[in-house]
Amino acid sequence: MAQNKIILYYAFAPLSDPEAIRLWQRTLCESLGLRGRILISEHGINGTVGGGIDAVKKYVKATREYAPLKKMDVKWSDGSAEDFPRLSVKVREEIVSFGAPGELRVDENGVKGGGIHLRPEEVHELIDAKRAEGQEVVFFDGRNAFEAQIGKFKGAIVPDVETTHDFIAELESGKYDELKDKPIITYCTGGIRCEVLSSLMVNRGFSEVYQMKGGIVRYGETYGDSGLWEGSLYVFDKRMHTEFTEDATIIGRCERCSKPTSNFENCANLSCRKLTLYCEDCVASGAELSCPAGCTAA
Ligand SMILES: [Zn+2]
Ligand SMILES: [Zn+2]
Repeated sequence: MAQNKIILYYAFAPLSDPEAIRLWQRTLCESLGLRGRILISEHGINGTVGGGIDAVKKYVKATREYAPLKKMDVKWSDGSAEDFPRLSVKVREEIVSFGAPGELRVDENGVKGGGIHLRPEEVHELIDAKRAEGQEVVFFDGRNAFEAQIGKFKGAIVPDVETTHDFIAELESGKYDELKDKPIITYCTGGIRCEVLSSLMVNRGFSEVYQMKGGIVRYGETYGDSGLWEGSLYVFDKRMHTEFTEDATIIGRCERCSKPTSNFENCANLSCRKLTLYCEDCVASGAELSCPAGCTAA
Protein backbone atom coordinates (compact mmCIF):
# COMPACT_ATOMS: atom_id res chain seq x y z
CA MET A 1 0.00 0.00 0.00
CA ALA A 2 1.29 3.42 -0.91
CA GLN A 3 2.26 5.56 2.03
CA ASN A 4 0.12 8.56 2.91
CA LYS A 5 0.83 11.68 4.93
CA ILE A 6 -0.82 14.81 6.29
CA ILE A 7 0.97 18.14 6.56
CA LEU A 8 0.15 21.18 8.66
CA TYR A 9 1.79 24.37 7.46
CA TYR A 10 1.76 28.14 7.44
CA ALA A 11 3.68 31.15 6.21
CA PHE A 12 3.21 34.83 7.00
CA ALA A 13 4.22 36.88 3.95
CA PRO A 14 2.63 39.69 1.92
CA LEU A 15 0.45 38.18 -0.83
CA SER A 16 -0.76 40.99 -3.06
CA ASP A 17 -3.29 38.88 -4.96
CA PRO A 18 -4.82 36.25 -2.62
CA GLU A 19 -7.44 35.28 -5.23
CA ALA A 20 -4.73 34.32 -7.75
CA ILE A 21 -3.00 32.26 -5.02
CA ARG A 22 -6.31 30.55 -4.25
CA LEU A 23 -6.81 29.49 -7.88
CA TRP A 24 -3.20 28.27 -8.15
CA GLN A 25 -3.40 26.31 -4.89
CA ARG A 26 -6.73 24.72 -5.84
CA THR A 27 -5.42 23.59 -9.24
CA LEU A 28 -2.17 22.32 -7.67
CA CYS A 29 -3.99 20.28 -4.99
CA GLU A 30 -6.52 18.88 -7.47
CA SER A 31 -3.78 17.79 -9.88
CA LEU A 32 -2.05 15.93 -7.00
CA GLY A 33 -5.21 14.37 -5.57
CA LEU A 34 -4.86 16.14 -2.20
CA ARG A 35 -7.71 16.98 0.15
CA GLY A 36 -7.77 19.36 3.10
CA ARG A 37 -8.38 22.97 4.12
CA ILE A 38 -6.36 25.99 3.01
CA LEU A 39 -6.89 29.61 4.07
CA ILE A 40 -5.24 32.47 2.21
CA SER A 41 -5.18 36.16 3.06
CA GLU A 42 -3.05 39.11 2.04
CA HIS A 43 -0.89 38.17 5.09
CA GLY A 44 -0.11 34.58 4.16
CA ILE A 45 -1.30 31.00 3.99
CA ASN A 46 -2.45 28.45 6.61
CA GLY A 47 -3.37 24.93 5.64
CA THR A 48 -3.56 21.23 6.25
CA VAL A 49 -3.69 18.72 3.38
CA GLY A 50 -3.31 14.98 3.07
CA GLY A 51 -2.56 12.48 0.31
CA GLY A 52 0.10 10.14 -1.06
CA ILE A 53 3.56 10.94 0.28
CA ASP A 54 5.00 11.74 -3.17
CA ALA A 55 2.06 14.00 -4.00
CA VAL A 56 2.43 15.86 -0.69
CA LYS A 57 6.18 16.30 -1.27
CA LYS A 58 5.46 17.72 -4.74
CA TYR A 59 2.92 20.09 -3.21
CA VAL A 60 5.42 21.42 -0.65
CA LYS A 61 8.13 21.85 -3.28
CA ALA A 62 5.82 23.66 -5.73
CA THR A 63 4.42 25.94 -3.02
CA ARG A 64 7.89 26.85 -1.71
CA GLU A 65 9.03 27.66 -5.24
CA TYR A 66 6.81 30.74 -5.02
CA ALA A 67 9.29 33.14 -3.40
CA PRO A 68 7.01 34.69 -0.71
CA LEU A 69 6.21 31.17 0.60
CA LYS A 70 9.81 29.92 0.54
CA LYS A 71 10.04 29.84 4.36
CA MET A 72 6.75 28.02 4.90
CA ASP A 73 6.81 26.02 8.16
CA VAL A 74 5.68 22.41 7.51
CA LYS A 75 4.88 19.69 10.05
CA TRP A 76 4.40 16.11 8.87
CA SER A 77 2.15 13.54 10.49
CA ASP A 78 0.45 10.25 9.68
CA GLY A 79 -2.87 10.39 7.86
CA SER A 80 -4.26 10.62 4.35
CA ALA A 81 -6.66 12.47 2.05
CA GLU A 82 -9.43 10.31 3.58
CA ASP A 83 -9.10 12.28 6.84
CA PHE A 84 -10.71 15.25 5.05
CA PRO A 85 -14.20 15.33 3.54
CA ARG A 86 -13.00 17.32 0.51
CA LEU A 87 -10.65 20.04 -0.67
CA SER A 88 -11.49 23.56 0.53
CA VAL A 89 -9.39 26.57 -0.52
CA LYS A 90 -10.66 29.96 0.66
CA VAL A 91 -9.61 33.59 0.82
CA ARG A 92 -10.27 35.18 4.23
CA GLU A 93 -9.41 38.45 5.94
CA GLU A 94 -7.20 36.55 8.39
CA ILE A 95 -5.50 33.14 8.23
CA VAL A 96 -5.96 32.89 12.03
CA SER A 97 -9.05 34.66 13.29
CA PHE A 98 -8.09 37.13 16.01
CA GLY A 99 -10.48 39.76 14.65
CA ALA A 100 -7.59 42.14 14.03
CA PRO A 101 -6.74 42.00 10.30
CA GLY A 102 -5.89 45.71 10.25
CA GLU A 103 -3.38 45.41 13.09
CA LEU A 104 -1.23 42.58 11.73
CA ARG A 105 1.82 43.66 9.75
CA VAL A 106 3.91 41.25 7.71
CA ASP A 107 6.91 41.49 5.45
CA GLU A 108 9.01 38.91 3.59
CA ASN A 109 10.46 37.73 6.93
CA GLY A 110 7.06 37.05 8.49
CA VAL A 111 5.08 38.91 11.16
CA LYS A 112 6.58 42.30 12.08
CA GLY A 113 6.89 43.28 15.71
CA GLY A 114 6.06 39.87 17.19
CA GLY A 115 7.76 37.93 19.98
CA ILE A 116 11.24 36.46 19.70
CA HIS A 117 11.13 32.87 18.42
CA LEU A 118 12.62 30.24 20.73
CA ARG A 119 13.46 26.65 19.83
CA PRO A 120 12.67 24.09 22.56
CA GLU A 121 16.26 24.11 23.90
CA GLU A 122 16.25 27.91 23.93
CA VAL A 123 13.12 27.87 26.09
CA HIS A 124 15.07 26.02 28.77
CA GLU A 125 18.12 28.26 28.33
CA LEU A 126 16.00 31.39 28.78
CA ILE A 127 14.39 30.02 31.94
CA ASP A 128 17.81 29.19 33.41
CA ALA A 129 19.32 32.55 32.42
CA LYS A 130 16.40 34.52 33.92
CA ARG A 131 16.41 32.41 37.07
CA ALA A 132 20.10 33.23 37.54
CA GLU A 133 19.03 36.90 37.52
CA GLY A 134 16.29 36.17 40.06
CA GLN A 135 13.44 36.37 37.54
CA GLU A 136 10.78 33.80 36.67
CA VAL A 137 9.64 33.32 33.07
CA VAL A 138 5.87 33.20 32.60
CA PHE A 139 4.24 30.73 30.19
CA PHE A 140 1.16 32.23 28.50
CA ASP A 141 -1.23 29.80 26.80
CA GLY A 142 -2.19 31.02 23.32
CA ARG A 143 -4.98 28.48 22.79
CA ASN A 144 -8.65 28.30 23.69
CA ALA A 145 -8.99 27.76 27.44
CA PHE A 146 -10.63 24.33 27.16
CA GLU A 147 -7.55 22.92 25.38
CA ALA A 148 -5.49 23.58 28.52
CA GLN A 149 -7.85 21.46 30.65
CA ILE A 150 -6.02 18.34 29.44
CA GLY A 151 -2.50 19.68 29.00
CA LYS A 152 -0.37 22.78 29.46
CA PHE A 153 3.06 23.99 30.49
CA LYS A 154 3.55 23.69 34.23
CA GLY A 155 2.45 26.88 35.97
CA ALA A 156 1.18 28.47 32.73
CA ILE A 157 -1.32 31.30 32.69
CA VAL A 158 -4.43 30.21 30.79
CA PRO A 159 -6.41 33.23 29.54
CA ASP A 160 -10.18 33.01 29.71
CA VAL A 161 -10.85 32.72 25.98
CA GLU A 162 -13.46 30.60 24.27
CA THR A 163 -12.12 31.38 20.80
CA THR A 164 -9.09 33.21 19.46
CA HIS A 165 -11.39 36.18 18.86
CA ASP A 166 -11.55 36.78 22.64
CA PHE A 167 -7.82 37.48 23.08
CA ILE A 168 -7.84 41.21 22.40
CA ALA A 169 -10.51 41.95 25.02
CA GLU A 170 -8.72 39.64 27.44
CA LEU A 171 -5.35 41.39 26.92
CA GLU A 172 -6.99 44.80 27.32
CA SER A 173 -8.92 43.80 30.46
CA GLY A 174 -6.08 44.80 32.79
CA LYS A 175 -5.90 41.26 34.26
CA TYR A 176 -2.40 40.71 32.93
CA ASP A 177 -0.94 44.19 33.43
CA GLU A 178 1.49 42.95 36.09
CA LEU A 179 3.10 40.76 33.41
CA LYS A 180 3.97 43.71 31.19
CA ASP A 181 7.53 43.98 32.52
CA LYS A 182 8.10 40.23 32.89
CA PRO A 183 9.59 37.73 30.41
CA ILE A 184 6.66 35.87 28.82
CA ILE A 185 6.73 32.84 26.51
CA THR A 186 3.56 32.30 24.50
CA TYR A 187 2.81 28.84 23.18
CA CYS A 188 0.14 27.14 21.08
CA THR A 189 -0.25 23.85 19.23
CA GLY A 190 1.97 24.46 16.19
CA GLY A 191 3.12 28.05 16.63
CA ILE A 192 0.82 29.90 14.23
CA ARG A 193 -1.53 31.42 16.82
CA CYS A 194 1.47 32.79 18.74
CA GLU A 195 2.74 34.56 15.64
CA VAL A 196 -0.28 36.85 15.85
CA LEU A 197 -0.85 36.76 19.62
CA SER A 198 2.72 37.79 20.44
CA SER A 199 2.47 40.83 18.14
CA LEU A 200 -0.85 41.85 19.75
CA MET A 201 0.85 41.60 23.16
CA VAL A 202 3.86 43.66 22.10
CA ASN A 203 1.49 46.30 20.69
CA ARG A 204 -0.27 46.45 24.07
CA GLY A 205 2.85 47.14 26.11
CA PHE A 206 4.10 43.67 27.07
CA SER A 207 7.80 44.44 26.96
CA GLU A 208 9.54 41.06 26.83
CA VAL A 209 7.59 38.57 24.71
CA TYR A 210 8.94 35.29 23.34
CA GLN A 211 7.07 32.66 21.35
CA MET A 212 7.66 28.94 21.14
CA LYS A 213 8.83 28.16 17.62
CA GLY A 214 6.93 25.17 16.22
CA GLY A 215 4.67 25.22 19.26
CA ILE A 216 3.89 22.40 21.68
CA VAL A 217 4.26 19.84 18.87
CA ARG A 218 7.94 20.62 18.35
CA TYR A 219 8.60 20.94 22.09
CA GLY A 220 7.09 17.47 22.56
CA GLU A 221 9.28 16.02 19.81
CA THR A 222 12.32 17.28 21.72
CA TYR A 223 11.43 16.74 25.38
CA GLY A 224 8.46 14.35 25.39
CA ASP A 225 7.07 14.18 28.92
CA SER A 226 10.37 14.79 30.68
CA GLY A 227 10.38 18.59 30.29
CA LEU A 228 8.03 21.35 31.36
CA TRP A 229 4.94 20.15 29.49
CA GLU A 230 2.28 18.28 31.42
CA GLY A 231 -0.64 16.24 30.06
CA SER A 232 -2.21 15.58 26.66
CA LEU A 233 -2.27 17.80 23.58
CA TYR A 234 -5.69 18.71 22.18
CA VAL A 235 -5.74 18.26 18.37
CA PHE A 236 -8.32 19.47 15.84
CA ASP A 237 -8.98 16.17 14.10
CA LYS A 238 -10.93 13.06 14.93
CA ARG A 239 -8.31 11.84 17.44
CA MET A 240 -9.19 14.82 19.71
CA HIS A 241 -6.03 14.43 21.79
CA THR A 242 -2.55 12.95 21.57
CA GLU A 243 0.19 12.14 24.08
CA PHE A 244 3.95 12.48 23.60
CA THR A 245 4.83 9.29 25.50
CA GLU A 246 3.20 6.61 27.64
CA ASP A 247 4.39 8.55 30.68
CA ALA A 248 1.99 11.44 30.00
CA THR A 249 0.19 12.62 33.13
CA ILE A 250 -3.59 12.87 32.89
CA ILE A 251 -4.48 16.29 34.30
CA GLY A 252 -8.12 16.53 33.09
CA ARG A 253 -10.93 15.59 35.49
CA CYS A 254 -14.31 14.04 34.60
CA GLU A 255 -17.12 16.56 35.03
CA ARG A 256 -19.33 13.90 36.67
CA CYS A 257 -17.05 11.69 38.81
CA SER A 258 -13.74 13.63 38.89
CA LYS A 259 -11.73 10.65 37.61
CA PRO A 260 -8.64 11.63 35.56
CA THR A 261 -9.47 11.74 31.85
CA SER A 262 -8.49 13.46 28.58
CA ASN A 263 -11.76 12.51 26.89
CA PHE A 264 -13.90 15.39 25.63
CA GLU A 265 -17.60 14.95 24.81
CA ASN A 266 -19.98 17.54 23.37
CA CYS A 267 -22.63 18.90 25.74
CA ALA A 268 -25.85 16.92 25.16
CA ASN A 269 -27.70 20.16 24.39
CA LEU A 270 -27.46 20.43 20.60
CA SER A 271 -27.53 24.21 20.67
CA CYS A 272 -24.61 24.23 23.16
CA ARG A 273 -22.28 21.33 22.21
CA LYS A 274 -19.56 22.74 24.51
CA LEU A 275 -16.66 20.28 24.84
CA THR A 276 -16.68 18.89 28.38
CA LEU A 277 -14.51 16.23 30.01
CA TYR A 278 -16.19 12.90 30.72
CA CYS A 279 -14.39 9.66 31.55
CA GLU A 280 -15.12 6.50 29.57
CA ASP A 281 -17.06 4.93 32.46
CA CYS A 282 -19.41 7.90 32.70
CA VAL A 283 -19.91 7.89 28.91
CA ALA A 284 -20.67 4.13 29.01
CA SER A 285 -23.09 4.62 31.92
CA GLY A 286 -25.54 6.41 29.63
CA ALA A 287 -25.68 9.41 32.00
CA GLU A 288 -26.62 12.73 30.37
CA LEU A 289 -23.41 14.50 29.40
CA SER A 290 -23.97 18.20 29.91
CA CYS A 291 -21.53 21.08 30.18
CA PRO A 292 -20.68 22.77 33.51
CA ALA A 293 -23.47 25.33 32.82
CA GLY A 294 -25.89 22.46 33.48
CA CYS A 295 -27.61 22.37 30.10
CA THR A 296 -30.28 19.73 29.58
CA ALA A 297 -30.68 17.74 26.38
CA ALA A 298 -34.20 19.05 25.75
ZN1 LIG B 1 -16.56 9.97 35.14
ZN1 LIG C 1 -24.15 23.09 27.52
